[in-house]
Amino acid sequence: MHSRCDIACTYCYVYEHVDQSWRSRPLSLTDDTIDRIAWRIGQHAHAHRLDSVRVVLHGGEPLLAGRARISRMASRLRSELAPSTTLDLRLQTNGVLLADDEALCRLLVDEGITVGISLDGDRVANDRHRLSRSGSSTFDQVVRAAKRMGAPRNRTSFAGFLCTIDLDNDPVAAYEALVDLDPPRIDFLLPHATWENPPPRQVGLDVVPAPYADWLIRVFERWTRDGASTPIRVFDSIKSALAGRGSLTEALGTEPSDLAVVETDGTIEQADSLKIAYDGAPATGLDVFSHSFDEAYAHEGFAARRVDQDGLCTTCRQCPVVEVCGGGLYAHRYSSANGFDNPSVHCADLLKLITHVDASVREVVPGTTEPKPHGFQLSHFEAIAAGFGGEEAILALRETAESGNLNVLAMLLKKARDVGAYSRVTWDAVDEVEARAPDAFKSLLTHPYVRVWADRALDGLGSDSVDSSALDHLRAIAVAAAARGGVNFELNLAARGGSLCIPTLGTYSLNTKSIAELALRVDSGIITANLTSDEGDAGGDQLTWRPRRILEGDGLTVALEDTDPYRDCHQWPIEPLVSDQEAAAWQRLFHQAWQIIERDHTDYAPAMRVGLSTIVPLTRSATHQRSATARKAFGSVGIARPDTADELALLLIHEFQHVKLGALLDLFDLFDPSDTRLYDVSWRDDKRPLEALLQGTYAHAAVTDVWRARLLRDEPPDGSVSARTAGEHYVFWRDRTLQAVDVLIGSKSLTPLGERLVELTGERVSRWLDEPGD
Ligand code: SF4
Ligand code: SF4
Repeated sequence: MHSRCDIACTYCYVYEHVDQSWRSRPLSLTDDTIDRIAWRIGQHAHAHRLDSVRVVLHGGEPLLAGRARISRMASRLRSELAPSTTLDLRLQTNGVLLADDEALCRLLVDEGITVGISLDGDRVANDRHRLSRSGSSTFDQVVRAAKRMGAPRNRTSFAGFLCTIDLDNDPVAAYEALVDLDPPRIDFLLPHATWENPPPRQVGLDVVPAPYADWLIRVFERWTRDGASTPIRVFDSIKSALAGRGSLTEALGTEPSDLAVVETDGTIEQADSLKIAYDGAPATGLDVFSHSFDEAYAHEGFAARRVDQDGLCTTCRQCPVVEVCGGGLYAHRYSSANGFDNPSVHCADLLKLITHVDASVREVVPGTTEPKPHGFQLSHFEAIAAGFGGEEAILALRETAESGNLNVLAMLLKKARDVGAYSRVTWDAVDEVEARAPDAFKSLLTHPYVRVWADRALDGLGSDSVDSSALDHLRAIAVAAAARGGVNFELNLAARGGSLCIPTLGTYSLNTKSIAELALRVDSGIITANLTSDEGDAGGDQLTWRPRRILEGDGLTVALEDTDPYRDCHQWPIEPLVSDQEAAAWQRLFHQAWQIIERDHTDYAPAMRVGLSTIVPLTRSATHQRSATARKAFGSVGIARPDTADELALLLIHEFQHVKLGALLDLFDLFDPSDTRLYDVSWRDDKRPLEALLQGTYAHAAVTDVWRARLLRDEPPDGSVSARTAGEHYVFWRDRTLQAVDVLIGSKSLTPLGERLVELTGERVSRWLDEPGD
């Protein structure tokens, strides 16, 4: 897009290496050249009936080309491609121009351009090479750009970071600095080097044989401990290639290169990394005005990249990791003596890194699915599978919920745009709160019903019919986050059906069921509201505020949620606003129940202390005790108020087991989803699908444990069940749980991780059979 740059990185392959062709190139693409490039790409896609085409807008700094050229390129590409061909349009930038230019960000998002930003880690790391032309730091600008692109409204267009490794940078500090900015992906790049110009080594450490591997391995170890929470392309590529699924990057693997570069004068070149080899190395003598991409394909330079392993040097062909490494990046093989007929100049590093990742993958429970993203580790899985899970494991689960909600929010924005339901006022409010009170905003995302709302709002934005009313709730979320984060803020909201809920805080009730608009003002954490209509001015008593109720236990506070409209996800009918008398009854029971849990069921308490956030009162049934959880509402349990604290303690433990397992099922495949058989369930008359059987087994192991504790209780408190009754319940649930374990194992549909969970459950319950006096 543009052949110059607005900063001056010391390692830049465009300006700082042997190829100096940039000096003779026009600054920017002209409109004619843009049109010609788009036409050539369209011509190639039509001729080969391509399903998709990836175009990366590159530089120098591509944003220097200006908005008009970028828009023209995007629209010309779209018009030249058939509707059946997907355009994957990307842009790689140093981020400086995006730092304070929301309009430019919006343009990129609106044009469907996914943006990658170059950032080398923390301030020290980044400023080692990536400085402005005057030598000043670019770090603050790039971080502002990353935050702008990572904000909910822009996030769908954020690709992540490219980070070039420098051995003088601390690898973990660099990794942490990047992860702190919550990018969708990171890629770590080995510095560009050839056998003529080998990569820098740390002074005094020349004896270290593979320092870049050591650097990356430190990141890999930390990343693995973090549960591989942020995709890192170099590691994911190695894992993918090890699993036989091919590499994800041109820098690794044996897949033929399918990349062509078009410069600002329209010349077609080979991969631009070749600029480091020798002056003119990427040149082909072809251009988009006179030559098609098919002609470029036939050029010897491109042909040399399609010869699979046969095109590699003898050393590489005999290498044990050649399938994964593929000789590294083509440019890194160059020497003046042999051309590209060498192993990579990073050979020792590649061999050590790939071998390390290979060994590490094999160490994971053999045959298991890989840990999924979001800060969750296998040790957390083991802790929860063993029946409990401590604070750390549950906090990691909560982080996954938060991260998942952020992504759903981004999907919602995209869908709203696609179907014309986008409201600038709403998303500006979200942006403002997210920027000014990021912690409060993030913590609101873990409110259990945000996900329930977001999914329903997405459903409402179907392509056939659009109901955008649910999107109004996002304004209420922004108001709640503003109040919690101390952001002063004003926003109008619509109250529907006689009420308006401000999530996690409370609800306004109106004495009219028709839609009314409220002007809300948040000042130092206090919300005030007024009806905007004339009717409102005339009658100030039409609006009443009811704060959300809370329940206090010793060391645990949870919400008694009776206001959030999305709490109706718990299978059974919900209670409307609870009375003061009913709330007092809940408070008495909850306080006692939590004391029972902390005293008699200590293994379950730590997880509940950090994970149980909400109880939704359900309507009571004359025939049975109602309780339920909802997979999407992490931290919430629905319970019809029981009569005794013992009952409530049991229900809380039982339902929180479902909360934990539901969150695990969101992270891991525990069974084969294609198994649609129904299974005998020993505690029900009807047959149930595999997931329900798994959920029931995990929860009923805990129920068995509770009855066992009651059986063993020395002095039952007043009003508790007798030891005989406890014994009967204990034996009943113990035997049925063990039967269910057998059915699950016999299904042959559990994944290795699913089997692990069921085996641990079975072992725990079976051990009780051996207890003296059983
Ligand atoms: S931002 Fe990119 S193009 Fe600009 S100097 Fe740095 S490496 Fe080179
Ligand atoms: S590790 Fe070295 S020898 Fe093996 S394929 Fe890679 S570059 Fe070639």
